[in-house]
Amino acid sequence: AKSDGIGKLRFYHPSLKDTMQERIAFESALKEALTNQEFSLCYQPQVSAINGNTVCLEALIRWQHPAYGLVMPDKFIQLAETMGIIASIGAWVIDAACEQLSRWRAMGFTDVRVAINLSAQQLLVSELEQTVSAALQRHQLSGRDIELEITESVLMQDPERAIERLGALQKLGIRLSIDDFGTGYSSLGYLRVLPVNALKLDRSFVWDLEKGGKGLEICATAIDLAKKLDLEIVAEGVETKEQLAQLRHLGCDLLQGYLFAKPLTVEAASIFLINAHRP
Ligand code: C2E
Ligand code: CA
Ligand code: CA
Ligand code: CA
Repeated sequence: AKSDGIGKLRFYHPSLKDTMQERIAFESALKEALTNQEFSLCYQPQVSAINGNTVCLEALIRWQHPAYGLVMPDKFIQLAETMGIIASIGAWVIDAACEQLSRWRAMGFTDVRVAINLSAQQLLVSELEQTVSAALQRHQLSGRDIELEITESVLMQDPERAIERLGALQKLGIRLSIDDFGTGYSSLGYLRVLPVNALKLDRSFVWDLEKGGKGLEICATAIDLAKKLDLEIVAEGVETKEQLAQLRHLGCDLLQGYLFAKPLTVEAASIFLINAHRP
């Protein structure tokens, strides 16, 4: 439900204590953000568990507003979905990430790809394939150069349609991964038929690795499942050397988290790539 009027506002705004006026101001600021060029992308590396190479950079959106300061996506992505403006923001993200990747390509980083987060509405409603192929073409990239991350809950909202849409994207050569894997209700049956290439193990499981209990078994099971289904497995939220050691031992393919790098500005990500690729 996106346009249920004012009564609905209180559900999706981050703070219930804000006055109605403040909420309306926040929304109209968000509506202007694209035009005012207030969005930017940070990039967080995903590294190979085997050789430490940077394989992928995940694009994470940031909103820099003159009055609100730096606004994180958790504060506005859902709101943008509710407001029905996520498709245009999402299209900007796709284009900006492709543009940046082509710059990195020109700098000689030919093996690295970018991962882009998709929201539910982008996958199910908008003209996603056209948006993606236009961006690829504009920046002289091929489908293999990018990866799209989709949360499990999005896929489970309408699995039939998701399968169809994902299939079309995969035909463009695009890699697809299931984000926050393990947090939605994973239907194992659908995992078998969803055209995806990778699973991203949710960071809550990675954090449980050190807490004793069943954390280790859960990670081991998810990694085994991925291997049996011939999917690549990425662990997110890796913060400690202990987690790194365990994930490596369990055979996880790719690792992402503060232990390697926080989300980096374009400049910092470029420096990271330069240092990572130094012999
Ligand atoms: P996500 O896709 O699960 O992204 C990972 C989030 O975890 C990022 O937060 C990242 O900064 C954070 N993170 C990464 N490594 C670590 C770690 O080691 N420890 C901890 N504590 N956190 C870590 P961020 O950038 O605030 O993004 C939050 C969420 O917003 C993302 O979750 C994603 O669902 C959404 N998002 C971000 N950018 C976009 C976008 O361009 N489009 C859409 N639709 N959603 C986006
Ligand atoms: Ca993600
Ligand atoms: Ca995630
Ligand atoms: Ca998440």
